[in-house]
Amino acid sequence: MLSLREQVPLAPLTTLSVGGRARFFVEADTPDDVREAFAYSSAHGLPLFVLGGGSNLVVADAGWPGLVLHLKISGISQRAEGSRVIFEVGAGESWDSFVGATVAAECAGLECLSGIPGTVGGTPVQNVGAYGQEVADTIVVVTAFDRVSGEIRIFSNADCGFAYRTSIFNTSDRDRFIVVQVAYALERGASPKIEYADLKRFFADKPSPSLQAVRDAVRQIRQGKGMLLVEGDPDVRSAGSFFKNPIVGTQRFVELDAEMQSRGLQLPNYPADDGQRKLSAAWLVEKAGFHKGYVHGNVGISSKHTLAIVNRGAARASEIVSFMNVIRETVFSRFAIDLHPEPVFLGFEQTPVRAMR
Ligand SMILES: Cc1cc2nc3c(=O)[nH]c(=O)nc-3n(C[C@H](O)[C@H](O)[C@H](O)COP(=O)(O)OP(=O)(O)OC[C@H]3O[C@@H](n4cnc5c(N)ncnc54)[C@H](O)[C@@H]3O)c2cc1C
Repeated sequence: MLSLREQVPLAPLTTLSVGGRARFFVEADTPDDVREAFAYSSAHGLPLFVLGGGSNLVVADAGWPGLVLHLKISGISQRAEGSRVIFEVGAGESWDSFVGATVAAECAGLECLSGIPGTVGGTPVQNVGAYGQEVADTIVVVTAFDRVSGEIRIFSNADCGFAYRTSIFNTSDRDRFIVVQVAYALERGASPKIEYADLKRFFADKPSPSLQAVRDAVRQIRQGKGMLLVEGDPDVRSAGSFFKNPIVGTQRFVELDAEMQSRGLQLPNYPADDGQRKLSAAWLVEKAGFHKGYVHGNVGISSKHTLAIVNRGAARASEIVSFMNVIRETVFSRFAIDLHPEPVFLGFEQTPVRAMR
């Protein structure tokens, strides 16, 4: 039996801490609860929004006029399959606690994703990644409720269409599937992945670190960048990186690189799929004049990370989105690059992401 609540404030359920109330709100502890909540929203003509840890979310000041379904499905089971260990995890489990459990079980594959806030169910949605790993590397099955057929569906890794910060769950089939469980295949006893520059530097004179040492290092590095939720740190009132790193084709990259060199600037760039180049959103934001600690009324840039827009305490959602657009417009006017925000926007009448031209 679902316990429906009304007029529930959403800001405390998000890391940015902005936005209004949910008209209706319900928690789902089981896949059957999900089914029941969906039936209720359909019967009453209410739009349904699925909330995980609220760490990638900007809620509008007006709130959400429909039903918010807070995913709380718990449970972690594991079984051996050859050299691999398969972990099946409820969508409502805390991501970082789960990663901690896999590291304690000496299973490799998620150690670099330590310290990321949010739930397990949120990870396939934007193919969460950091420090050289992304969940697409280890997810084997996603189990989700289909709002169209009303049935549970099973997705293989290939079905999920994973790419940089995307999957079918936030692109072609956005808002269709409610993830109830995710299965990850990890390698017991394998070495940790140390490919990312920050980690290589950290372990330069400490060869063969354990999985636990890598997890601790990642959390320590993240804390230094305001990317670990630490009580009392004002820089973590954010949605993490607010902008995705832009990916450009070879031709565009060559033109941009030449232009930057003519201005005496070195354009940081990294390989991306299909011969494309990934640029650094942080570098573009910084060079557009928005430095760490930049203040813009009630909002600003984290003092530790150029890509994190922070709520300085009393911000409204409207101030967050207006600052986001100021940054995007300035970057566009300087570099002709349209920065795309990473968080999801909830309850805005129109998309708050202004078109650049
Ligand atoms: C300090 C900080 C650091 C961060 N660092 C990183 C990082 O290093 N790498 C990275 O990739 N991200 C990072 N993020 C972003 C965020 O933590 C991830 O995107 C996370 O996976 C979001 O999960 P969530 O449960 O909080 O989702 P929410 O914010 O609650 O929701 C985000 C979207 O996912 C959908 N969703 C959530 N759960 C489900 C579900 N069970 N089924 C279907 N849809 C669902 C929601 O409907 C919404 O559209 C960071 C955020 C913060 C605040």
